[in-house]
Amino acid sequence: MDELIVKAAEDIEAARHVTALTGAGISIESGIPPFRGKGGLWEKMDPMEFAHIDAFQCDPAKVWNLLIKGMKEVLDPAKPNDAHIGLAQLEKCGKLKTVITQNVDGLHQAAGNTDVIEFHGSFAWQYCTHCGNRCKTSDVDMAKIPPTCQCGGILRPDCIFFGEMIPFDAIQRSQEVAASCDVMLVMGTSAMVQPAANLPVLARENGAKVIEINPEPTPLTGTTSDYIIQGSGSRVMNGIMARLDG
Ligand code: NAD
Ligand code: ZN
Repeated sequence: MDELIVKAAEDIEAARHVTALTGAGISIESGIPPFRGKGGLWEKMDPMEFAHIDAFQCDPAKVWNLLIKGMKEVLDPAKPNDAHIGLAQLEKCGKLKTVITQNVDGLHQAAGNTDVIEFHGSFAWQYCTHCGNRCKTSDVDMAKIPPTCQCGGILRPDCIFFGEMIPFDAIQRSQEVAASCDVMLVMGTSAMVQPAANLPVLARENGAKVIEINPEPTPLTGTTSDYIIQGSGSRVMNGIMARLDG
């Protein structure tokens, strides 16, 4: 693994334009569980029953009680870990331009990245399903479930439920960024959710090196990625940053 960390640092050093694609795995060390796999949310609940737009529209109180309230409790206190901080340092030193994230937790921005494409939206904001008014999730009065806007409309998080479309702007910009980078770091994503999982394929087709950082192999491993560094996001990023500094 250490040899691959040295190789990744060299590849980043030689690159002009690095992009990162991140998923739930990068935030596990910040205390946020992933969806899939061990300890994942889907071990405890059926996504179609709680995280589908039809479920929310049918019974918003149930989805607020069983999914959104719990997400707020986990996300509110979460802080960036060394993997997020490493990516922010990579931006500061002029290497990394854009982070494309499937996460809704806002931790890349909290770490200091300034160009973050939130592919699945953001949990930091709510909007009214009636008048569209927006407010911060941290300001929502949780005494009444489902919480409502001043107009009486039900609030919902500004991230997408299953069954909803990815914002067009996010897809378009992500594709541009993926096609124009020369190194893509793919971190903490199982690469099972489309269309995000296709971005590394697009990067590679356009000549980029694709470096995976994930404890487990994924469908990209051995096909799309040039190599995988099997380890936790923070440990690998700390290793890469130490070599770039030195
Ligand atoms: P996923 O849950 O499908 O997979 C997580 C991946 O992270 C796995 O491949 C796992 O091996 C890897 N991983 C585990 N520990 C890690 C570590 N310490 N460092 C790096 N990687 C580690 O995640 P996904 O691919 O992002 O897709 C799931 C969907 O879930 C996304 O659409 C996302 O919107 C949503 N989601 C977001 C959050 C969040 O905002 N933090 C949390 C849960 C789910
Ligand atoms: Zn309203």
